[in-house]
Amino acid sequence: MSNGSLLVIDAGILYTPYEKISAARVVADNGRIVEVGPADRVPAPAAAHRIDASGLTLAPGFIEPHIHGCGGVDVMDGSFEALNTVSRIVARHGTTSFLPTTVSSPSAGLTVALTKIGESISRRFGGAAPLGIHLEGPFINSVRRGTHRSLNLLPPDPELMSRWITASKSTIRLITIAPELDEAGSIAALAAQHGIRVAMGHSNASLAEAGAAADRGICYAVHTFNAMRDFTHRDPGIVGAVLADDRIFAEIIADGIHVHPAVVRFFARAKRAERILLVTDAMSAADMPDGDYTLGPDTVSVKNGVCRDAEGRLAGSTLTQDIALKNFVEWTGFPIEDALLALTTNPAKALGLAGKGVIEAGADADMTILDSNFHVMKTLVAGKLVFER
Ligand SMILES: [Zn+2]
Repeated sequence: MSNGSLLVIDAGILYTPYEKISAARVVADNGRIVEVGPADRVPAPAAAHRIDASGLTLAPGFIEPHIHGCGGVDVMDGSFEALNTVSRIVARHGTTSFLPTTVSSPSAGLTVALTKIGESISRRFGGAAPLGIHLEGPFINSVRRGTHRSLNLLPPDPELMSRWITASKSTIRLITIAPELDEAGSIAALAAQHGIRVAMGHSNASLAEAGAAADRGICYAVHTFNAMRDFTHRDPGIVGAVLADDRIFAEIIADGIHVHPAVVRFFARAKRAERILLVTDAMSAADMPDGDYTLGPDTVSVKNGVCRDAEGRLAGSTLTQDIALKNFVEWTGFPIEDALLALTTNPAKALGLAGKGVIEAGADADMTILDSNFHVMKTLVAGKLVFER
């Protein structure tokens, strides 16, 4: 092995995350992990660049399936510069890959955004890598629209969806639909043909409707509790299905605003470590001071980090994944190795991402280095240092 991209990291603690290794060493070459193990059993190649993280914790880089923007930028802008701003900022918070997420918009505007993101996405980014688009809406239920405007919602339309797949250069990786709508099944079938994962969200589905959706392979729930039919013990609805069905991966926004910490705790107990997805649903105000910001076609006011649209509805968050991890561990008492699954291997599985979310030989060298207070100290994407505190 004699390659300029050889890298050795020595870490105090490494979470693969299935396994915890103390005094660990990782060797990477050409953007991929070559060897992982206790430092005394993994030889360090002489020519390698070395990173000493011996007092720190090494984990797989975080995967963010649901982000609308940050740093004053909305991903609907679609330009490389806008996506690269998001890429760099999320990397400071430990995120190494993300799905730029659209919001329901007039269909022509959405086509333009998907076209632009599809063109930008294959370029080389300065931080986290965008892996594909999350199309959130417009095939969602107006009763549970959240901040998505009624006039921008559409009944599921496979022909329109086909055009969007083409416009995006087949970069759509996830679509959120309300599974109870007529023709939702045709969208799911079309998505399956194109390797696009389907999520249920912004939905008023009953328990039976959500269960039937899971039977059809829709095993991903978007921001559980938010923009869903209310849960009650007599009418558990979609939330009941998401909590009780072990097949379903479930997003949760652990910012303490979208969902009460006590509810995050019982959610975590119901879903258990292997099916939780810690997402942010962040919008352009994330990593920025309070003020007025853009979310798709709307203006959102941010006060004390809480985002609300003109009607006072919650409109995205200012959360970052490092804070989501910290909050989640504090509120649930989960050990860090279990909490890490929710940002690494679980989203990789839910989205069908090979070689992501795990530190093992053959996987991409996407990693984050944290201190004991969950501060991100360094972030590496494909073996390249993209952030250092
Ligand atoms: Zn969203």
